[in-house]
Amino acid sequence: MQNNYGTPPLALVKGKGIVVEDSDGKLYLDFLGGIATNILGHGHPAIVKAVTSQISKLGHVSNLYAHPNAIALAQRLIVMTGDKNAKVFFCQSGAEANEAALKLSRKTGRTKIVATQGAFHGRTMGALSLTGQANKREAFLPLIKGVKHVPFGDIDAMRGAVTKKSAMVIVEPILGEAGVIVPPDDYLRGVRQICDEKGALLVIDAVQTGMGRTGDWFGYEYSGIKPDVITLAKGLGGGLPLGAMIALGKSADLFQAGEHGSTFGGNPVTTAASLAVIEFIEAKDILAKVQRQGAYLIQELAMIEGVKEVRGAGLLIGIELETFKASDVVNALRENGVLANAANESTIRLAPALIVSDSQIDKFIAIFRKVMKNAQ
Ligand SMILES: *Cc1c(COP(=O)(O)O)cnc(C)c1O
Repeated sequence: MQNNYGTPPLALVKGKGIVVEDSDGKLYLDFLGGIATNILGHGHPAIVKAVTSQISKLGHVSNLYAHPNAIALAQRLIVMTGDKNAKVFFCQSGAEANEAALKLSRKTGRTKIVATQGAFHGRTMGALSLTGQANKREAFLPLIKGVKHVPFGDIDAMRGAVTKKSAMVIVEPILGEAGVIVPPDDYLRGVRQICDEKGALLVIDAVQTGMGRTGDWFGYEYSGIKPDVITLAKGLGGGLPLGAMIALGKSADLFQAGEHGSTFGGNPVTTAASLAVIEFIEAKDILAKVQRQGAYLIQELAMIEGVKEVRGAGLLIGIELETFKASDVVNALRENGVLANAANESTIRLAPALIVSDSQIDKFIAIFRKVMKNAQ
């Protein structure tokens, strides 16, 4: 394989729930969940059943034909948005979902875009143009013209950047890749108001915060706003490659037949997995559990010596360290049988599957405390 990922520290061969096993037979508590993707953990029976039954019936049809799972999933997602006029486009990844939003925004007749510094929106050329991280962009310039990046959480900077030429504004409800950065409470409401004033589409990139991760379906609901576009991927397919771009209100009818597409997008198997995920989360009242566990994690982790700040919502948590390098602590956690990742130099990110139990959370806290103590 190419060196774009560097050399991974281990190879994983098996998993059940929150526990994964490497090629040497060592077990780990998976507190990263495939980067917020294995939303129901590994080998979840509901996903296994849905996928195996669907692949044995009909695996792929292309988008020249309809099939029931994609329609059923689109209907579920529309209900979750609270806008019965919303319409869904399926793809495979977060980058593609944001590419679709970017193309959709061109149909407003405008081309300018405002995004935020530090935000991550994907690696394809269009999505990379939206991504606000210089180190990921520099080698690939020039990117799409007309994208302005303003500081995340700064409503005055946003107001100064959005004009009547802006096609769209894209924001993550919480910056995920940048280190789990939570904006001020009224930020999304302010951005919504600015977009309304200037007639720009508000695109919420819920790729990482979506599917219950933060304790509501898409990560922005607490704000009470209604976006024009929601992009999803990561947890949407419960580990299978599935992304979606949902357009609400008037933007739902911007794409005309033939204007966008994806061969695999929303195929019968990935959408079967996603339906199983949504049904499980609803049936087991997982969102309430995620809120409760997130509050507990934040409270407990903040008391550990060497921790500067704990940020996040639900089961998307960033632990900012006082002096230690996040990568050193992540390596020590791995040696002690826990997987997490360093979102930046000083922040460890946790994104365990939403099925994580209270005792597994306590086990994580105990191991983290021990690792931090040994590091002092
Ligand atoms: C991961 C991520 C993406 C990109 O998703 P891919 O599936 O890797 O293309 C986009 N936006 C956000 C917020 C993400 O966390």
